[in-house]
Amino acid sequence: MKALVLNVGSSSIKYSVFDGEKRILTGIFERLRGNAQFSLSLRKIAGLLARKRIRIDAVGHRVVHGGTIEKPCRITASLLRKLEKVSELAPLHNPPQIRGIRTCRKLFSAPQVAVFDTAFHQAMPARAYTYAIPSGIAANYGIRRYGFHGTSHKYVAHEACRKVKKDIRKQKIITCHLGNGCSVTAIKNGKSIDTSMGFTPLEGLVMGTRSGDIDPAIVTFLMEKGFSRQKVYDILNHRSGLLGISGVSNDMRTVMKSKSKKAKLAVDVFCYRAAKYIGAYAAALGGVDILVFTGGIGEHSLAIRKKIIGYLKHMKIKNIVAVKTDEEKMIVREVKEVLRK
Ligand code: ADP
Repeated sequence: MKALVLNVGSSSIKYSVFDGEKRILTGIFERLRGNAQFSLSLRKIAGLLARKRIRIDAVGHRVVHGGTIEKPCRITASLLRKLEKVSELAPLHNPPQIRGIRTCRKLFSAPQVAVFDTAFHQAMPARAYTYAIPSGIAANYGIRRYGFHGTSHKYVAHEACRKVKKDIRKQKIITCHLGNGCSVTAIKNGKSIDTSMGFTPLEGLVMGTRSGDIDPAIVTFLMEKGFSRQKVYDILNHRSGLLGISGVSNDMRTVMKSKSKKAKLAVDVFCYRAAKYIGAYAAALGGVDILVFTGGIGEHSLAIRKKIIGYLKHMKIKNIVAVKTDEEKMIVREVKEVLRK
């Protein structure tokens, strides 16, 4: 089977073509603005495939927010209507992705499948996804933990099991995706039972520019001090995290090279927070068989892994592995699975 995998971001389109699980073509369009540029890029991809005489059998779309949808889905008009409803929860990502899907339905006759970042986490029990706020308000606005990076967590959990030759259906796994965005997931017998990103990708770990967990009272306190809603959003999403603490950069490599005290503190807070989550998820799982690191930082930085693991020595985790994530390959697997049924 030949499949085109599309990852439409807020200002870019990444594409890959797979023949089975082999990537035979890949590329990116960046700095896109407005519908017309997105649409033109997709038409260019269709043109490129035609010129190379590559006939695709399926198109897989990464979709950030699928609400409470539990599995990848074949794209239909009614699915698109559902996704439009949850767009409010991911205003930067879902709208361009939905427009991309609509354009692709005109460009390609092959069946199309949506694979959601949230889907893997929909197996979480209510005790993990419920926030302790009034239940009426939560229900009215769909406020609950959704979780993100699901495609990556699922992929690296399977890869790690393959590496250490264990059956995922019998393992307690903690996966740490540490890139620009960072999240930790507790996986029991192949299913996500808790994850650190929540209602939005802002919760949980310290990230490149995102704060992760803070006392929610800080938000209202800053607003009382005269910061607008937009300003607070911007501070927590774009000016916090490694960048906020260090004042140097959002990029871990740059922060680690800096000699400043604040940069050192940023790395300390980053690793300490990650270790705390791993400890918490060991409690959620009742033990840990495999600890997995991925994402640019998790995969490449031995120093950061060592610093995090340094807090966890007493846990005597048997298998600690670093794995390269491949969300596109996971999407191809999901597409195959959906179309097989
Ligand atoms: P994204 O989440 O955008 O896909 P990546 O997963 O590529 O990003 O992660 C980017 C982060 O990985 C950056 O903070 C970068 O500095 C960090 N990184 C990459 N290689 C290393 C390394 N060898 N040591 C420390 N950090 C690294």
